[in-house]
Amino acid sequence: MTSYYDEIEIEDMDFNEDDQVYTYPCPCGDKFEIFVDDLRDGEDVARCPSCSLIIRVIYDPDEFADEDDEDTTFQVESNTITVA
Ligand SMILES: [Zn+2]
Repeated sequence: MTSYYDEIEIEDMDFNEDDQVYTYPCPCGDKFEIFVDDLRDGEDVARCPSCSLIIRVIYDPDEFADEDDEDTTFQVESNTITVA
C-alpha cells in the first residue's frame, strides 16, 4: 500500500504557468511536482525529484477533464501507412 507524506489540496499548491506544473514545498528543500497533463490522466500523486517522498493531490478531475477534450479524442489510424 502506498503511503503518502501528506495530502494537499490543489488550491494550496503553486501553479507554474510556463511549465504547466503544480508544485508544493518538500521538506527536503526541493518541491513536489505534478503536471497538468498528469492530472488530466487522473494521476493524483505528486513526486519530489530529489527524494522518495510523494504527496496525494486532492482535486476535482472534472475541472481538468473538460479542458482540451477535443484534442485528446483524435483517432490514430494505424492502417494508413503508405508503402511506396
Ligand atoms: Zn524531497
